[in-house]
Amino acid sequence: MAAQQTYRLFDVALKQRLTLSPSLTRMVFAAPDVANMKTEGPDQRVKLFFPLPGQDAPHVPRGEDWYARYRALPDEARAPMRTYTLRALRPERGEVDIDFVLHGETGPASRWATHARVGDRIGLLAPDAQVAGSREGVEWKPPSSMRRALLVADDSALPAVAGILEDLARWPHPLEVQAFIEVEHEADVLPLAAPDGTQLFWLVRDGAAHGQRLQEAVCARIGPSGVRAAEQALAEIDIDQDILWEQASTDGAGLYAWVAGEAGAVMAIRRHLVKDCGIDRQAISFMGYWRRGKVLD
Ligand SMILES: Cc1cc2nc3c(=O)[nH]c(=O)nc-3n(C[C@H](O)[C@H](O)[C@H](O)COP(=O)(O)OP(=O)(O)OC[C@H]3O[C@@H](n4cnc5c(N)ncnc54)[C@H](O)[C@@H]3O)c2cc1C
Repeated sequence: MAAQQTYRLFDVALKQRLTLSPSLTRMVFAAPDVANMKTEGPDQRVKLFFPLPGQDAPHVPRGEDWYARYRALPDEARAPMRTYTLRALRPERGEVDIDFVLHGETGPASRWATHARVGDRIGLLAPDAQVAGSREGVEWKPPSSMRRALLVADDSALPAVAGILEDLARWPHPLEVQAFIEVEHEADVLPLAAPDGTQLFWLVRDGAAHGQRLQEAVCARIGPSGVRAAEQALAEIDIDQDILWEQASTDGAGLYAWVAGEAGAVMAIRRHLVKDCGIDRQAISFMGYWRRGKVLD
């Protein structure tokens, strides 16, 4: 018997748009069927499908082999698909929140978000509450032995980090938490719920390249761990061809880290944390959320 698919497509409509900051807009999507959606963690990833010009709603194949049929469609008939974070879910109200970085008209998702109006429809591929367990699409899985959490994110990963910090605020024992978050403007700095004592470093790009401020701050503030010297093998990854995606499988002497953002910046931070600082690479998730000049779906 084929494994039951944990994700399924939900047809949703935009109910409300909330400007969180100049660069980040929260879209509240709604549909009665959202009562049957679930989220398994604060960085739950979902796929969004956007209508092609002239369509009211995206046409996405259904059924078990939907993905093969979707891929087989000619470019001009295939609804653009992009990956986002499920920021909040209110199944009892049939509502789900996704926070969009507005980075201009260069991609279908950001373009859609810039112009979207209440009532506009998209497709949302998300975990199905009728299917038990799995935690598919969640990388934030800290072990109970975690004593120190390190979070590094640009604005595309800010929705996930905001959720992770909320999660950490409920952690059963005291933690040392450091979070580095890069945003476009001073006005993009948001009030976040976080555990007491969290060291929150907001880094404003202010014209610098994406990820540069993040790299500088992490390199300046996180030094050699003194644990294992930097003997760990670190395969180079061609981030223009392959998606950078490494998931932590342990904690490194109590440290558990989560790094996501522009893939070039994540690669540089990976090198620093693993090679220069000697932090156990198995204790860090490294995720290229997007790549400058490329389209990843
Ligand atoms: C697991 C996961 C979760 C994510 N969660 C979120 C989320 O909650 N909110 C969110 O906004 N993004 C999120 N992203 C990132 C999002 O998928 C990408 O930014 C995506 O490229 C946006 O699609 P697009 O159609 O706007 O641009 P694309 O068509 O993909 O790209 C067009 C151009 O825009 C550039 N570009 C893409 N993203 C950005 C950016 N953020 N800033 C500046 N330039 C960019 C590309 O390099 C390319 O040159 C997530 C990605 C992953 C993998």
